[in-house]
Amino acid sequence: MAEIQVENLKVVYRGVILALQGVSLRAGAGEAVALLGPNGAGKSTLVRSLAGLLPQYDGRILDGRILVNGQESHHLPALKVASLGLTAILEGRPIFRYLTVVENLRAAGHKLPPERQKAITEEIFARFPRLYERRFEQGGYLSGGEQQMLLLGMALLTEPKILVVDEPSLGLSPKLTEEVMRVLDELRREKGLTLLLVEQNAKAAFSIVERVYVMEQGRIVFEGTSQEAQADADVMEFYLGGA
Ligand code: ATP
Repeated sequence: MAEIQVENLKVVYRGVILALQGVSLRAGAGEAVALLGPNGAGKSTLVRSLAGLLPQYDGRILDGRILVNGQESHHLPALKVASLGLTAILEGRPIFRYLTVVENLRAAGHKLPPERQKAITEEIFARFPRLYERRFEQGGYLSGGEQQMLLLGMALLTEPKILVVDEPSLGLSPKLTEEVMRVLDELRREKGLTLLLVEQNAKAAFSIVERVYVMEQGRIVFEGTSQEAQADADVMEFYLGGA
């Protein structure tokens, strides 16, 4: 069982800015769920909350709770959350820019026994041949799409059960976005991962998720299946800009 449950979560920054105003959502074991919404809606705040990273941003949970596999996690620091099997890929492609692809992967997998690390790294290179070609290149010299693939590889080296990905399509061409979505879908199916995909690009998200939440100003304003979201004129027009 690898599920996330968020109940009535309220989050504040610097003690004054109420970024989440009582958010509830759920992603069941093996399910792919999208969290959509415009700039500033609070999506990254939810990702930071799930990953135990709020304190790094001067944020704090005021109320509500988060359960990972039925276990309360909202009081736990990031490393403890990770040990529950939840890996978050944050917005902005946070790789080590002066380390090579191989070194980035080694850093991500440092907790694994060497033979496990080797096997997963081989799997990553087989899945992303372009990363193999560029394995001795510094992270900072990779294209946006290559960096996103590297981040996915780094995430795989933590052997996640739940993957939370914040805006993977940001800055990518439609073709590369499609490629990233295809890989996420494949990984979920092959490894039975639970996937929470946070996106502004609704169209891309619809292609691989079963259920959708739409967030606006720190609240969930829509919840339904992908089909229901695409059939809902309000969602399409007002929240997703007619995507
Ligand atoms: P984006 O797609 O631009 O990342 P988002 O939906 O992820 O948008 P958040 O980044 O979670 O939205 O921001 C939600 C609200 O919290 C915004 O009003 C933002 O200005 C505020 N906020 C985010 N981070 C901080 C911070 N570290 N300190 C203060 N306010 C913040």
